Formats: sequence, C-alpha cells, structure tokens
Amino acid sequence: MRRSLVLGNWKQNTTKSTALELLTDLSKELNDNPTKTELGVIPPALVVQMAVEQCQNSAFEVGVQNVSSTNAGAFTGEVGADMVASMGAKYALVGHSERREYFKESADDLANKIVRCLEHDLLPVYCIGEQLEVRQSGDYLAFIKNQLEEVFSQLQPEQITNLVIAYEPVWAIGTGETASAEQAQEVHAMIRQLVHAKIGTDNITILYGGSCKPSNAKELFSQPDIDGGLIGGASLNAKDFVAIANSF
Ligand code: PEP
Repeated sequence: MRRSLVLGNWKQNTTKSTALELLTDLSKELNDNPTKTELGVIPPALVVQMAVEQCQNSAFEVGVQNVSSTNAGAFTGEVGADMVASMGAKYALVGHSERREYFKESADDLANKIVRCLEHDLLPVYCIGEQLEVRQSGDYLAFIKNQLEEVFSQLQPEQITNLVIAYEPVWAIGTGETASAEQAQEVHAMIRQLVHAKIGTDNITILYGGSCKPSNAKELFSQPDIDGGLIGGASLNAKDFVAIANSF
C-alpha cells in the first residue's frame, strides 16, 4: 500500500536512559506538532519493549533494525521475526547497507528475512542503494535493479506487494551529502517501474534515505515517486525528526 511514511533508524545508539529520554521527547514533540504522516522509530532491539510502551499514547509505531533469516531454533544471538512481532513492533529493516557491508548479508539471507517478517505480520523495509564507485561509474541503475531482482526472484508477487522499499545511496548515508531531489527521483521512478513490470501494480511505498534533514526533506518528499524517508542521524533529535515528518 502506498502512503506517506517516515522511519527513524537509531542504529547502535542510546542506552536505557537515553532511549527513554528520546522517546519522551518524541512524544512531547508530537503533542506540540502533530503529524498526519505515519511515523516509526527503529531503535536497538533491546529498547523495543520500552518504545512500544511509550507509543501506546503517542502517534508513532516501532520497528527493528534486523531480524533472523530463520525460524526459532538453535541460533544463538539471533532475534526472530516472531519475537519482534510478539513485542508489538510493526516494521523490520532488511538489508540496510551497514548490514550488507559489515555483516555480509547475502541476497538469499535477505529474501529469507523478508519471508520471516511477512509470516509474522511485520512490514519489511527492504533497503537498497549503490556505493560511491558505482554512482561514479554511471552503472547505478543497473546495480539497483540487480539488488531488487535478486530478492524479487525469490518472492511471490503478493509478498512483493507487501514490501516497503528504501532507496539509500551509500555515499549519502551519514556523510552529510544528500542525493539531490532529481537524483533520488530518477532512481525512485525506476524502482516503481520495475515493481510495476514485475507484479502489475506500483502501489507500494518507496522511501529515500541518506542525510535527510529538516532543510532538505520538503524538496525530496515533493518528488512524485518519493513517499517519505528512512532517517538516521536526524532521528536522534525529536524536533528534527518530527520536522521531517511534517515536511510533506
Ligand atoms: C540510514 O542509516 O538509514 C540513514 C539514512 O542515515 P543518515 O540519515 O544518518 O544518513
């Protein structure tokens, strides 16, 4: 389903006390500046329960940054989609570029993670995006197409319909360098066309991520194929995060 959505990826930031502080700030900020946009925080998994409790009375939902590719079993250290769903979370990031790079997640892992999420009614947010060398080589559209195809080829059309896709150029993540609205729109339009060719509908949500902040969100979100943002650094500041959500 296509809708306006802003998600805040906290990455490996916050402790119990600073997470509570940020969640409290977020609730206050949303009270003062309510948003019509669907909003989600994606804190470290240990904070999910606290975030779900906090969001009972506030206008945001909760997600996780990763789930296991397997069902329950002897997989020490893993957190399953069933566990996450049972805590009341709604979203799960799949294939964030930091996980692809540092944890060597393969396309098979990512397809399995998506399936696990969908089995447990978690909304998978499939993250894709090219590195700087790929952008500079000019082959970025083919690269992104491949990141979509290698997972789509393992999914049923109805599973693809239920994905959110986040286009996050790696060169823009945490660097302060944002893709221009035109650069982002070009890729989003290609993604939407590819999804349409694959499943006969393009009614899916496609987010932009990469140094999105209050000063550039409006221009990015005004593009015809950009439905919102996956926000890293700026989501650690409640004022900035809510300002981004109110940039449509
Ligand atoms: C991210 O990590 O998903 C991200 C978009 O980070 P930042 O906004 O800090 O670039």
